[in-house]
Amino acid sequence: MSGHMTPEEFRAYGKRVVDWVADYLASVESRPVRSPAGPGDVRSALPAHPPEEGEPYDAVLADLERIVLPGITHWQHPSFFAYFPANASGPAILGDLLSSGLGVQGMVWATSPACTELETVVVDWLAELLGLPGHFRTDAAGGGVIQDSASSASLVALLAARHRAGGGPGRHAIYVSSQTHSSLERAGRIAGLGTGRVRSVDVDPRTLAMDPGHLDSLIREDAAAGLVPTLVCATVGTTSTTAIDPVPRIGAVCREHGVWLHVDAAYAGVAAVCPERRWINDGVAEFADSYVTNPHKWLLTNFDCSVLWFADRVPLVETLSTLPEYLRNAATLSGEVIDYRDWQIPLGRRFRALKLWSVIRWYGAEGLREHVRLGIALADEFAALVRADERFEVLDHHPFGLVCFRPLWNGLGAEEADEATLALLDRLNDSGELYLSHTRVHGRVMLRLAIGAPATERRHVRAAWDRIRAELDRR
Ligand SMILES: *Cc1c(COP(=O)(O)O)cnc(C)c1O
Repeated sequence: MSGHMTPEEFRAYGKRVVDWVADYLASVESRPVRSPAGPGDVRSALPAHPPEEGEPYDAVLADLERIVLPGITHWQHPSFFAYFPANASGPAILGDLLSSGLGVQGMVWATSPACTELETVVVDWLAELLGLPGHFRTDAAGGGVIQDSASSASLVALLAARHRAGGGPGRHAIYVSSQTHSSLERAGRIAGLGTGRVRSVDVDPRTLAMDPGHLDSLIREDAAAGLVPTLVCATVGTTSTTAIDPVPRIGAVCREHGVWLHVDAAYAGVAAVCPERRWINDGVAEFADSYVTNPHKWLLTNFDCSVLWFADRVPLVETLSTLPEYLRNAATLSGEVIDYRDWQIPLGRRFRALKLWSVIRWYGAEGLREHVRLGIALADEFAALVRADERFEVLDHHPFGLVCFRPLWNGLGAEEADEATLALLDRLNDSGELYLSHTRVHGRVMLRLAIGAPATERRHVRAAWDRIRAELDRR
């Protein structure tokens, strides 16, 4: 085996790979959801040294089956309920394959006009589908861009906010809550804000939503101390429990003090494809300077695909643009085109728009709504089942596909009960029949069941509930 794979060889192996993926998706339900592999299992089964001579591609496929697959946790399994589901779908996989086939590096418009312009159209489409404000559109002052993750998106938003805020180094402060995603804390560190410059705003103890009154007083204190209040991150659908910060009231505080409002709707934002969920955008049109949601979390687009919009793209481009000689080109200099490398941290960029475009065209707005509605309906049903069983407690707030609950363990103290909940979780996940994760709410361990894998049907949610109860009885 030597030399490049010819187009004919590619055709033959490519068909086998596509068949392999189709078989995988058709049979994923028969596999244990969470990989049973222990640390080092996969690594020790692989050769320590790379091959000197090329090998037949069949050898790669054989090892995929034999070594890699047992080390896979099956995110597309219908009983995958952990974290947030990372959605994949046929059209998204094909879109990614096409992107790989084209092998485009879309750092600037000139390196492939279609890579940039298709992205512009698709992010504008998505803004429209989600009912986001008109000024987020590229033909207005704002614009959207596809990033690898919400973590990168929030860092980019922070850099733009810091540029707009001005002020010397070491003086910028940002505002989050205990429920804000950890990526904001990291963004603060990466941006070099310095210790203690990521302020934690109190939350309402009942709803876990950020307290705008406390936010206002923290900003006032910081401003009085000579700091530059730079960015507030409000979350719509927190990672732990899908709590929702009061964006209109937080936005009013930001407006009063001239602070950038970033809205992190990484998981829940896509629910706004459904008109009856549009209320989650309350305050965004009036107050948000930037907004992020991840089609890779709940909109059938396989990782990675996170969309970040700005109300005004000027501070973003001003803070990130550079023009080395080797990238000078007539189109960039004309100012008539977008160079998305100025909208993100890395220079290079994948042609991610292809998969989102494939997904939106395949499903249409109605298909996307159906997916989100099913997830919400199944979560409601699951929550009702849990609520009806007096041995459990369930969080009332579950506006999306996530339900948080826990066995009450009557008779056990708080610490013992938490340990018992975690032990129950381990037994359930070890069974391979389903996969849940956990969080801590009001100091207590709670189980998280997140619905959203495209293959999940009512029967899988029912089976999960039966399994959880059976495991409790077994104790
Ligand atoms: C998942 C999540 C993130 C992080 O998303 P990545 O794309 O994995 O970086 C940020 N914020 C919220 C609210 C999330 O749920």
